[in-house]
Formats: sequence, structure tokens, C-alpha cells
Amino acid sequence: MRIRSNPHTHTTFSDGCDAPRAQIERALALGFRALGFSDHAVQDVDAFTGIPKEREADYQSEVRALAKEYAGRIRVYLGVELDSEFGLADARNYDYILLSNHYVRKGDAHALVDCSPRRDRVFAVRDEAYGGNGEAMAADYFLHLGARALEVRPAILGHFDIVKYFNGEGALYDADSPAVRRAQMEALSMVRESGALLEVNTGGMARGYVSEPYPSWDILRLWRDLGGGVILGSDCHDARLMDFAFADVLARLRAEGFGGVWELGGAGEEMFVYRRFSDRKD
Ligand SMILES: [Zn+2]
Ligand SMILES: [Zn+2]
Repeated sequence: MRIRSNPHTHTTFSDGCDAPRAQIERALALGFRALGFSDHAVQDVDAFTGIPKEREADYQSEVRALAKEYAGRIRVYLGVELDSEFGLADARNYDYILLSNHYVRKGDAHALVDCSPRRDRVFAVRDEAYGGNGEAMAADYFLHLGARALEVRPAILGHFDIVKYFNGEGALYDADSPAVRRAQMEALSMVRESGALLEVNTGGMARGYVSEPYPSWDILRLWRDLGGGVILGSDCHDARLMDFAFADVLARLRAEGFGGVWELGGAGEEMFVYRRFSDRKD
């Protein structure tokens, strides 16, 4: 079995390297049945990664036009990646919402968790807003995300544990502390209750930051035990990396006891379809 779709794709409308058409052409070259765009939603706070407000309508119309143009060759979906803290999107204008959290935040203090030029700001939020308590900061990250999942009811919950981005060797917080573990579990339960699929995101692997997907395998095992569904996503900012590590991660999911995975549906299918590992076709 092969995954032949990607629901997490960025373009030059937000922070991707490629135009939508180039991403579709790459998906076709890979033999994909479907491609979902998920540029970063408009933000009124810290707007630099989001689609500029004045371009959101163009994003929607361009992707819709391409979906028509390519119909019959590949299914194209108009999604959006909504930041749980600052994202703004009207769900009625999109096929699906991929909800994710890119910020640690307490009151007015906030910092992007995965922006290397702004690394110091994450540590400043911990030290100034959280009095040095990184575990409390990480716990808040997860709990904010879980609570927003219940409000937004997204189709997909993206890169669940990307707050660990700068936590190499525990620099930011103790990942095994009871406070962090408890918050992770509580957030996972809220995501499960929201009905969202949990994304198994290979974007950090593609860019060489991490050796595991987001979330890590220990979290994915908890999710499996909650009975939640998973969907692979490459968080594609560069068309060349559109299916990065999909085959390896798929094999590992199977070995970890998942019965199958969800993916975007192609022609004549629902938007999200379940592919059982035992089906063995394709
Ligand atoms: Zn993201
Ligand atoms: Zn993304």
C-alpha cells in the first residue's frame, strides 16, 4: 500500500517555496490521486507566516480554479492551516481545516516555537512569562491546542508536539515530567473528542530537524490506544519533499499496530477515506 495524497501543502501564498500549480504537477508526477492545500491562515497578530489578508481571496480562487482545471487527473482540495492561537479563517470558505499550534503563549507574551531566527524568544517567554518553568509552558501549549480542537472541530490536527522543536537535550523543558505527560494525554483526549484525525507529520524529518515524525512514536501509541485515526502529511514547503518518508512511516505505523490510515480521497471518493493495511491493493 502506498499513500497517494498529501493534505498539508504550503505555497507562495504563505511560506512555501512553490506556486500551487507546481505543487500539483509534483503530485501528479508522484502518481497522487489527491492534493490538499493548507497555507497558513491569515493572522492579525504576528502575521508574517500567514497568507496576507488581502491575498486570502486570491488563494481561494486560484486553488479552486486549479481544482477545476485538473479535475479528472487529480482531486485538489482547498484547505487551510489554522493556528490555534492567532489564526483567522472562515471554515465555510474551505474544504477542511488543519488546526495546529505554533506558539507558546501566556497573556501578551508569545513566541513561535519553530522559527530558528527567533529561537531566543521562546526561551524568553519561558524565563519571563513562566518564571523559568518550561514544563508549565509546554503543558499550556498542549492544553491550549486541545481546547481549541474542541472549539474548532478541525478535520486534521497538525504536528501535535512541535513545541519540542528547540527542546534538544531538554534545553527548554523536561519532556518526561508528569506535568508535561499529563497535559499531553489530556490534550490527546480532547483532540479525540473533537473527532479530528491526528496528522503524522514528516516535515521535520524532511528538513532534518528530527528523526521521528510529529508526534513522536510514544505519543502515537497513546493515540492508537485511544482509537484515533491518523493521516500522513509532509507539511510540504518544497515540492521535492512532498512524500518524504511516507513509505517508512507507513510501515512503522503498521508495525505499531495501527489497522490503517486515512488519506485524502481521489475521484469518486469521499474527502477522507480509510485505507486498511490488510487491503493490500494498489
Ligand atoms: Zn504548522
Ligand atoms: Zn504547515
